[in-house]
Parts: sequence; C-alpha cells; structure tokens
Amino acid sequence: LTDINALADEYLRLSYHGLRAKDKSFNADFKLDLDPDLPKVNVVASDIGRVLLNLINNAFYAVDEKAKSTSQEEYKPEVIVKSTRTKSPSGDLGVEIFVQDNGNGIPEHIKEKIFQPFFTTKPTGSGTGLGLSLSYDIVKAHGGNLNVNSEPSVGTEFKISLPTKIVQN
Ligand code: ADP
Ligand code: MG
Repeated sequence: LTDINALADEYLRLSYHGLRAKDKSFNADFKLDLDPDLPKVNVVASDIGRVLLNLINNAFYAVDEKAKSTSQEEYKPEVIVKSTRTKSPSGDLGVEIFVQDNGNGIPEHIKEKIFQPFFTTKPTGSGTGLGLSLSYDIVKAHGGNLNVNSEPSVGTEFKISLPTKIVQN
C-alpha cells in the first residue's frame, strides 16, 4: 500500500531542489495541503510517483517561465500539492490529488493536445512531450482519471482521481 501524502511531500521537495541545483536563478514557493486521513492506495509507489513527478515538474516549469517574463514585485511563483479523500454516494472511498500552479496557463487550442505522446511546447532538449501521456496511461490503468483545469494568466490545476477498489482504509 502506498502513502500518497508521503510521496507528494518527497517529490515536491525533490523536484524543487533538483531544479535549483540545475539553475541557480530558479525560485518558487511550494506548499503541501494534505489530508491527514488520506487512505492508502493499492498502487505501485513508483507508478504513482512518476505521475506526481511529471505534474510537479511541469508546474515548476510553468511558474519559472512566467517568473522569467514578469517582475519579482508583481509575481510570486507558487506550486501547491493537495490531497483529499472522497466518498461516493454508495460509500466507496477514493482519493484526489491536485497539483496547482500560478503559471501562464494552457491556451485553449493546446489543451486538447497535451495528453498526446510527443506533444510539447518546450524547446528541444527541455521536454519530450511524454510526461502527460504516460501519466494519463498510468492513472487510467488504475481505473482512475487525470483531469486538467487551466485558465490563461491565472494558472493550471491537474487532478488525479483514484478510485475506491484500490483504496484501503
Ligand atoms: P513536456 O513537459 O515534455 O513538454 P508533457 O507531456 O509533460 O511534456 O506536457 C505537454 C505540454 O503540456 C507541455 O509542453 C506544455 O505545453 C503543457 N503543460 C503541461 N503542464 C503544464 C502546466 N502546468 N502549465 C502550462 N502548460 C503545461
Ligand atoms: Mg512534462
């Protein structure tokens, strides 16, 4: 059984410090808002960890891009990871994990392509375009869902939903 809260905490720090090590000018706030009663899920930690890392890396990239084109007084880059337990009307448990950033958001005409393999808007060498397609496949293979909510100039939120039968109390 996997403790998603612990994974989220670990990968958020890992991603942040990894990016800072590569680029001294990188800086962003990051926050965790985790449900202390989150049920553990019956998924391989490295699978769901890979999804989290993809989403978190994308979020830091998005705020960094915005930070590099906005003045420091005007913009505070921030990435937040949240978790919450859910309960269906029939009483089945589930978990939802949100990865939120206040980056530039995803333009409408691009939104429909982001889950396609090899789709990337990043310069050669910075992105393979495989992160979201792989993440989508992993979440779907566990009977879950990966959704995106994005508003240009406000930011982006990805939501991982994992269902009932793989969740244990
Ligand atoms: P890559 O990161 O290698 O480009 P992904 O599959 O992870 O590939 O993402 C595909 C594309 O989706 C990105 O190139 C970017 O255009 C868009 N995207 C993903 N996450 C975000 C985000 N948090 N904010 C803005 N755009 C995003
Ligand atoms: Mg990516």
